[in-house]
Amino acid sequence: MLDSNKPVVEDTEENRQICRKYCANCQNYRKHALGDHQPTGLFCALGKSSAPNMREIGCFCPACELFTKYHSRGGYFCVRR
Ligand code: SF4
Ligand code: SF4
Repeated sequence: MLDSNKPVVEDTEENRQICRKYCANCQNYRKHALGDHQPTGLFCALGKSSAPNMREIGCFCPACELFTKYHSRGGYFCVRR
């Protein structure tokens, strides 16, 4: 569940493009073929991936400008948002 007290990352094409710079290059994304499952990105806004048997093997979120902008914590939003 999203914390209602936190500002929410908006689902915009601009934010999706920012996300692609990080998620699409991350080991976790490639290993689990996250592009083949919904949502395909912007997990911090759209929720975790529907890909099965997800593990946590490297996350680039802490380097993402949206992560900083929205004071996010933890990363691995594709696994446990
Ligand atoms: S914080 Fe992570 S999931 Fe959210 S936009 Fe950035 S790279 Fe994508
Ligand atoms: S949320 Fe983190 S671990 Fe998941 S695909 Fe994006 S950068 Fe990789």
